Amino acid sequence: MFLPTLKEAPSDAEVISHKLMVRAGMIRKLAAGIYDLLPLGLMAQRKVENIIREELNRAGAQEVFLPSIQPAELWQESGRWNLYGRELLRVKDRHDRDFCYGPTHEEVITDLVRREVRSYRQLPLNLYQIQTKFRDEIRPRFGVMRCREFTMKDGYSYDLDEKGVEETYRKMYDAYCNIFRRCGLKFRAVEAETGQIGGSFSHEFMVLADSGEDSVATCESCDYSANVEKAEVRQDARCKMQDAREELKPMEVVSTPDKKSVDEVSEFLKVEKERIVKTLIFETENGIVAALVRGDHDVNEAKLKKLLKCDVINLAGEKVVEDVTSAPSGFAGPVGLNLKIVADNSVMGIKNFVTGANLKDAHRVNVNINTDFKIDLSGDIRMVKDGDLCSRCNGTLRVYKGIEVGHVFKLGTKYSESLKATYLDENGKEKLIVMGCYGIGVGRTVAASIEQNHDDNGIIWPMPIAPFQAIVLSLNMKNTDVVHTSENIYQTLTDSGIEVLVDDRDERPGIKFKDADLIGIPIQIIIGEKNLKEGKAEIKIRKSNKRIIVPVSDMEKQVRGLIKELTPA
Ligand code: ATP
Ligand code: MG
Repeated sequence: MFLPTLKEAPSDAEVISHKLMVRAGMIRKLAAGIYDLLPLGLMAQRKVENIIREELNRAGAQEVFLPSIQPAELWQESGRWNLYGRELLRVKDRHDRDFCYGPTHEEVITDLVRREVRSYRQLPLNLYQIQTKFRDEIRPRFGVMRCREFTMKDGYSYDLDEKGVEETYRKMYDAYCNIFRRCGLKFRAVEAETGQIGGSFSHEFMVLADSGEDSVATCESCDYSANVEKAEVRQDARCKMQDAREELKPMEVVSTPDKKSVDEVSEFLKVEKERIVKTLIFETENGIVAALVRGDHDVNEAKLKKLLKCDVINLAGEKVVEDVTSAPSGFAGPVGLNLKIVADNSVMGIKNFVTGANLKDAHRVNVNINTDFKIDLSGDIRMVKDGDLCSRCNGTLRVYKGIEVGHVFKLGTKYSESLKATYLDENGKEKLIVMGCYGIGVGRTVAASIEQNHDDNGIIWPMPIAPFQAIVLSLNMKNTDVVHTSENIYQTLTDSGIEVLVDDRDERPGIKFKDADLIGIPIQIIIGEKNLKEGKAEIKIRKSNKRIIVPVSDMEKQVRGLIKELTPA
């Protein structure tokens, strides 16, 4: 078997799954974010793919396989040729015609559907593929977790109406839960940002792991879970700081030499961070705005975007900040600022607060809304924090890191409109098809599973996605009894349909034990001279480290029982 294990992880591997996938001989790097998949890696990936196929087929979806090279015209038609940016790998053919390597397939599949579907009788349709995508990620890292060429399951549904797509969405959501549960993952389906669509029709499937690039807010008391991009803040927590009896004081400018950050100002002026108001300048397609949040909070750009009803917002650079505030960045404040001013709800409740003075090395104290400046717009524009109150109940929100392994999304008519995918209803009236889309990162799912299932010695595969269910360790290749028994067990188990690997290399037992632990096969069958003299062999469960001695003659039954025990229902 081509299974090149390594003692050391490569120096560019930051997360455990990347290290272990290289050390276990599953992957090798060809170029930045581009990997070779070796037999062991491919086997694990195929297991995940097959679970996906079983669950999606069961839910009524059908598998197709679409080209990875896509004509530019389709992307121009949908408007994404220009919008997608540099993640899209563009190529030219010999006739100088533009193509791209598909990062996703909404255009291609909708083109297929619009050409074939005429009547309401042909709907609904739910199609998926498991295929290679290319995205020229700005920062490929973490091995196959965020790479440039990767395998994705992408699915697209076509329904008659809203009711139809919502039903399909529900089915896909349930199928995803089954898929990730069967892959042995601890995950949360979290509400995600929907952009303009609204409603709870976008869920990300997040595997909770410290190495995750996303943050998820999860309530301790109810089942509310949301990406922090979207997680709502409970409104009545906004007045925490307010004391109704506190009198408004006259505003003053104070000197704060070189004190720019909230921490520095808080320490220098001896005020709590909750009583400092940060002013952040953003550029939008409708002009420049100032966003105010409390010193202990951060602006949530997705929420701000929604409140401002704009498509593009970017934190302004130093030059712009200097232009609009007439002060170096770090001293911006709302008083006297000639910009649209948006404030977070929590800011509305504070009195006598501290802000930048729009003057170098100065802040204002005892600032008050309405007395000293006006707010144009207020709302929930901040990031939730660990410890915030849940918006649904009185529980406490906890913020965890998560790896997004899948995403289900109600698209609505975005693509059927731009690509003109329509059908004729019962009355012969032309209507737009209503779409949903559903992705799973197949390689990322394998990596995420390793993030959650490993120990110091290596991978611990959950049974359903283990490349092999059992491994036979033949401890002494010079002893014919050991060699024959190992060979026999391997043959018997293989013949009965069990996926088994035999380590019959001429290596020391220590090396075989180490490699077996590293590659993480759930059941180790250890054939050594001593036990064999009594007709017995040892079985070690990789996960629990439990060891049992069983008669060789009983091996198949034992292994079968263990496989069942280790497979979730
Ligand atoms: P991310 O926010 O992680 O970039 P995305 O929103 O771009 O993800 P989708 O377009 O929804 O991802 O793609 C569907 C799935 O494909 C994701 O849920 C993820 O599991 C996987 N995926 C996306 N980008 C990558 C990548 N660069 N490498 C590996 N898997 C990826
Ligand atoms: Mg992405």
